[in-house]
Amino acid sequence: MTQRENLLDLTPDEAETRLSTFMSEVGEPEYRVRQVLRRLWQNPAASFDAMTELPAALRRELDSAFALPRLELVVRQKSVDGTQKFLFRLSDGEAIETVAIPEGNRVTLCISSQAGCALRCAFCATGAMGFSRNLEVHEIAGQVREMRLIDEPVDVTNIVFMGMGEPLMNWKAVDPVLTLLNDPRALGIGARHITISTVGVLPGIVALGQRPEQFRLAISIHAPTDELRRSLMPINVKYPLADVIEAAQVFDRRVTFEYVMLGGVNDGAEHARQLAELARECRAFVNLIPLHPGGSQGFAATPPEGIARFARAVRDRGVEVAIRKSRGMDIAAACGQLRVERLGRRPPRAAKQHGDIQVA
Ligand code: SF4
Repeated sequence: MTQRENLLDLTPDEAETRLSTFMSEVGEPEYRVRQVLRRLWQNPAASFDAMTELPAALRRELDSAFALPRLELVVRQKSVDGTQKFLFRLSDGEAIETVAIPEGNRVTLCISSQAGCALRCAFCATGAMGFSRNLEVHEIAGQVREMRLIDEPVDVTNIVFMGMGEPLMNWKAVDPVLTLLNDPRALGIGARHITISTVGVLPGIVALGQRPEQFRLAISIHAPTDELRRSLMPINVKYPLADVIEAAQVFDRRVTFEYVMLGGVNDGAEHARQLAELARECRAFVNLIPLHPGGSQGFAATPPEGIARFARAVRDRGVEVAIRKSRGMDIAAACGQLRVERLGRRPPRAAKQHGDIQVA
């Protein structure tokens, strides 16, 4: 049997072209293309068979030519604060996490871009599990698609690439995923409501900056000096702070600095001063993140009054700063935590050189 082509790995333009050829081959009118296109992402169908607006014979023909793979939902946890966490199993048995965070009339979906992560940030549960592989287009955008398909669907308004993995190390897939998220023929989420979070992968920041849409960029700084950052984030050897700051300066839109508060590690008065200086250099907005208990080993959370003091010190130096609310404290909502809980820790696997990490 020939392999069926996966329509969910294609951008709307590609899918339209492909479906147009198919419809003319099977002698169906052109409007069928738009009918199917709508059912890929906008109003997704669980299968071709569920596209009951199409004749049964056409549904069968579509099914023998194309695939519409689902992500298998293994766990759905709900927090008392409304946060929901999902664990999806992929076709090769890998598992990834997605978190939906409601806030007022918005729901932000935190999506994964890799199974595991090679970057080994010291405070991160995903980093501790090692890297398995890059996710494919349909596995990343599919996390949003599934929110429209599951029982009690989730009406996602915002996307952050802050789940498992470093999105700019998988630019080959993330680039078309951004199109799918934003295109009104697909998921139709405004570019300003889509944030890519990176540790500072320079080629990826440049590639993102070249896209015409106003996607948002968040950079995980987490330490205001190279020495401290190197000890927390090994990637700082390859992309030191000065390079990351320079990239943030040339990215011609507002950048957010993410800064996880690690008790006694990066939360001193001097750190606040240094962080504020860096933020001023690129007019960045600073987001302070309380450490999620259980998400990391060997680190203590900065107490709330310490975070408030740190925020004041940064703000007093003319930098806009916010403290992220901790969400999903009663479920395993820290990135990587649920997968570790369900599948157990396994020895970290270093990425094969170049082969399985795709940098822009
Ligand atoms: S914090 Fe992000 S980049 Fe660092 S190990 Fe975790 S998933 Fe990877």
